[in-house]
Amino acid sequence: MQAAKEIIVIGGGVIGLATAIELRLLGAEVTILCQDFQAAAGHAAAGMLAPQAEQISIGSMLDLCLASRELYPSWVQKIESISGVDAGYWQCGILAPHYTQPEQNAQWLAAPTIHRQQSGLSESIVGGYWYPADGQVNNRALLRSLFSASQSLGVNFLDGVAVKTIHHSQERITHLETSEGNMSAQHYILATGAWSQQLLPIEVVPRKGQMLSLSVPPEQWDHLPLQQVLFGEEIYIVPRQDGKIVIGATSENVGFTPQNTSQGVQQLLNAATRLFPLLQDLPIHETWWGFRPATPDELPILGTSAYENLTLATGHYRNGILLAPITAKLIADVVWHQQVDDLLAAMSWERFG
Ligand SMILES: Cc1cc2nc3c(=O)[nH]c(=O)nc-3n(C[C@H](O)[C@H](O)[C@H](O)COP(=O)(O)OP(=O)(O)OC[C@H]3O[C@@H](n4cnc5c(N)ncnc54)[C@H](O)[C@@H]3O)c2cc1C
Repeated sequence: MQAAKEIIVIGGGVIGLATAIELRLLGAEVTILCQDFQAAAGHAAAGMLAPQAEQISIGSMLDLCLASRELYPSWVQKIESISGVDAGYWQCGILAPHYTQPEQNAQWLAAPTIHRQQSGLSESIVGGYWYPADGQVNNRALLRSLFSASQSLGVNFLDGVAVKTIHHSQERITHLETSEGNMSAQHYILATGAWSQQLLPIEVVPRKGQMLSLSVPPEQWDHLPLQQVLFGEEIYIVPRQDGKIVIGATSENVGFTPQNTSQGVQQLLNAATRLFPLLQDLPIHETWWGFRPATPDELPILGTSAYENLTLATGHYRNGILLAPITAKLIADVVWHQQVDDLLAAMSWERFG
């Protein structure tokens, strides 16, 4: 079967952009329709690349996440070389301090070692895990880099265009009804994150996360030697190379209710200053929130759909930044080469019946 050349990607977050770029590099003509680029969860994330710190226990998901972490350095380099925009990739390692002693494994550091590795931790920390291969990317910089790369490559990105209805026959998508009129292509990719259920009966719901950042005055950098992510039991603290410290996140089942709440921000600040008391004098730089695309089993929904010309790339929940490179590669393989990688078997929409 010949590959579809004209492709519409619905949704222009990290997944839509990464996938569009991969297909464009293979020779496709790609249009992205994006209701609201700034609303994408990719802007709201912490950017941790943390398959191990997240303690992902389902084997197929862990395999997918590890494969994506492996791709990260070369993928970011590729995007940066096309766009000329630094994405802030940093394999800084992730330290996971604990207040109570869990089961130990090879990555466990006892109290003296963890306090030596990271000064300034709460005295109540009894030890923790060290994951040197985990890291971070500056997700906002990554989105800027992806957007620029897409423009350099000639992807047609239409921001502010919402798909209202996906029209279909028994087997095929026939056309899209959008806020700018009807549009059609040979193939469609659904990458609408937390909003996916508004277009198709698909098991994705929003899970709100509130976040904030602190800024470290340049003269204080020497007194705040935070050079790795801290992934605590109730909070994570992500130091950026630009002097900001990102703190997250709440996890709330409140639909698309916007805004930060005083309770949410208080919860984050309390947990962060408990874990790393040196933060308490730093100025608050920004607060924000976003909507993770959550599925019932917390695995993404990837690959073929009920329609032969629609491919699904949604439901990445807490790991969409991490999973962008592997998603883009596997979805491009499905759409362009009709190749379905074994990694996709457990990610099928059909698992929900
Ligand atoms: C607080 C928070 C912290 C996070 N931290 C991390 C982290 O540390 N590491 C990590 O890997 N992941 C993290 N995530 C998860 C990650 O951000 C998401 O999994 C990822 O951004 C999902 O990407 P996406 O492209 O599928 O969706 P999004 O980035 O949300 O993009 C979807 C886009 O589709 C558009 N859209 C929706 N409906 C329509 C429509 N009908 N027509 C046209 N366009 C439409 C939207 O406007 C939006 O721009 C975090 C998320 C949150 C909220």
